[in-house]
Amino acid sequence: MLDTAPEKRVRDLIDTFGRALSAGDVEGAVSLFTEDCFWRDLVAFTWNIRTMEGRDQVRDMLASQLASTKPSNWALAEGEAVTERDGLTEAWITFDTDVAHGYGHVRLKNGRIFTLLTTMVELKGFEEPLGFARSLGAKHGSGMDRKTWKEEREEELVELGHTRQPYVLIVGGGQAGIILAARLRQLAVPTIIVEKNERPGDSWRKRYKSLCLHDPVWYDHLPYIPFPANWPIFSPKDKIGDWLEMYTKVMELNYWGSSECLGAAYDESAKEWTAVVCRDGKDVTLRPKQLVLATGMSGKPNMPNFPGMNRFRGEQHHSSRHPGPDAWRGRKAVVIGSNNSAHDIAAALYEAGADVTMVQRSSTHVVRSDTLMELGLGPLYSEQALKNGITTDKADLLYASVPYRILHEGQIRISNAIRERDADFYKRLEATGFMLDFGDDESGITMKYMRRGSGYYIDIGASELIINGAIKLKSGADVAELTEDAVMLKDGTRLPADLVVYATGYGSMNGWAGDLISQKVADKVGKVWGLGSDTTKDPGPWEGEQRNMWKPTQQEALWFQGGNLHQARHYSQFLALQLKARMEGIATPVYGLQERHHLS
Ligand SMILES: Cc1cc2nc3c(=O)[nH]c(=O)nc-3n(C[C@H](O)[C@H](O)[C@H](O)COP(=O)(O)OP(=O)(O)OC[C@H]3O[C@@H](n4cnc5c(N)ncnc54)[C@H](O)[C@@H]3O)c2cc1C
Repeated sequence: MLDTAPEKRVRDLIDTFGRALSAGDVEGAVSLFTEDCFWRDLVAFTWNIRTMEGRDQVRDMLASQLASTKPSNWALAEGEAVTERDGLTEAWITFDTDVAHGYGHVRLKNGRIFTLLTTMVELKGFEEPLGFARSLGAKHGSGMDRKTWKEEREEELVELGHTRQPYVLIVGGGQAGIILAARLRQLAVPTIIVEKNERPGDSWRKRYKSLCLHDPVWYDHLPYIPFPANWPIFSPKDKIGDWLEMYTKVMELNYWGSSECLGAAYDESAKEWTAVVCRDGKDVTLRPKQLVLATGMSGKPNMPNFPGMNRFRGEQHHSSRHPGPDAWRGRKAVVIGSNNSAHDIAAALYEAGADVTMVQRSSTHVVRSDTLMELGLGPLYSEQALKNGITTDKADLLYASVPYRILHEGQIRISNAIRERDADFYKRLEATGFMLDFGDDESGITMKYMRRGSGYYIDIGASELIINGAIKLKSGADVAELTEDAVMLKDGTRLPADLVVYATGYGSMNGWAGDLISQKVADKVGKVWGLGSDTTKDPGPWEGEQRNMWKPTQQEALWFQGGNLHQARHYSQFLALQLKARMEGIATPVYGLQERHHLS
């Protein structure tokens, strides 16, 4: 027997689906989906990042895109087993479109498609030089005045941006810009990254000195060069900085350090940006066709404006500029805020011998790192997951295969399990007065991150310091003003201070568009990030994808790249393909361009 029963079921369905699509039979294809279906497409059909929810949306998308997409060759992915779990049959699939090869994932419920993920993997004729297709490197044979790799590379560095324009300009050379540039390099898209810091990795190096990544190594890999097997689980910030610097060099990226983009304007008729970059003190004008802002979700500090800040005689730092605790031994520090940075900074100050008080205005979600690693990320991103055959690529796709509309359901289950396991810890923490939450719908950290990118602490020890009183806590408190030597709270409490750290978070990335391009363009594009879940700090209407990230925006030729390491890695694949297709003049009819609903 060649096929197992579930395998045959999926194969038959995929065959029927493929035939319907090839025949242009939209109704036939739609009838293979359940009423409550989801089709998440990463660029393959929509030239967008878009989830179709329910049959009507699937029908609408196919009516618009089928003729140009011309999908074919639907098959079960080679070497992948069909599995059955919780009444769902799951399979990996491959397909082609007119211009690309695709990979996907399907879940069947009662014999129909419940979730479908379609992703673009590579553009036909523009495949990356990987594996069998890797370049020779050496030049065999002979030729007059042949240039070496080094000579060619040096020539490129001299020419690009001066006698030859880049197709893509990436503003911001943190991990997000670096990762995207690495993918574009493989696709032969001339790209320059401009970064105001001196060296790749500096955006991590410049953060507070105790910082280690909160996410584990399996979640953090960069494309093409995964971390080695002896890399620590939680990278110290300077170590990740060094890795990024090494990566930038060996991936042969055109990285302009000490180069600040001062402004950019789009010329609608020339279909080209004019960007002014101050490189080592001299202005250079670049004319790229595409502009990517990779300036960081955690790059625009939210600095509060309390009365009296200018008369305070001590030091005041936003968390992003706080160098660390060394100068504060035996002195008084007040940390405003109660999320990740606030906890990390307060703990480091305590360890350095400062007297620290944390001021908590509103509730925070806390999840212990160990528990999160085991119950949250472990099934997809861990040594055990690898042992179970779930590579990082596979984990990324599985993660992507769950539509945002229902992602919270699984997350509520995980969050409940975490809560149960750590019930005693949470009880002790709340007994201090710490205001705890688990998200608007109890779905915990993942949804908070996806919806608002803030509001949590992954506990690596600071909570215990709050519980035992080593870090003092003023909860439910708001700052009224600063005096010369203290923070005054609205309830009349006076907190004497030599140092005030504002761990008050970051503004929307569209603020960067306002700063670098114009307020008009920033307003046209609207809020960056958030799903439209109508929960705290994620206003509706429902978008169903991260607003404005990695996909076309209302401003032609303007893109946003970023997120955590996992997102920057995974979604850069689709952003790189969108850019490459445009460079090659491949038609990219965008379906369902997001509308603007919020200004920031
Ligand atoms: C305290 C903290 C801990 C975090 N921990 C994790 C973690 O464990 N795991 C994880 O995956 N993520 C983590 N993140 C989130 C995220 O991964 C980081 O914020 C990461 O640095 C984002 O990378 P990025 O490239 O998008 O932005 P950034 O690293 O912020 O880089 C943006 C760059 O743009 C540059 N720039 C801005 N404007 C200009 C301009 N006009 N011209 C030139 N250059 C410009 C900046 O100098 C900066 O280097 C954490 C974030 C913070 C703040």
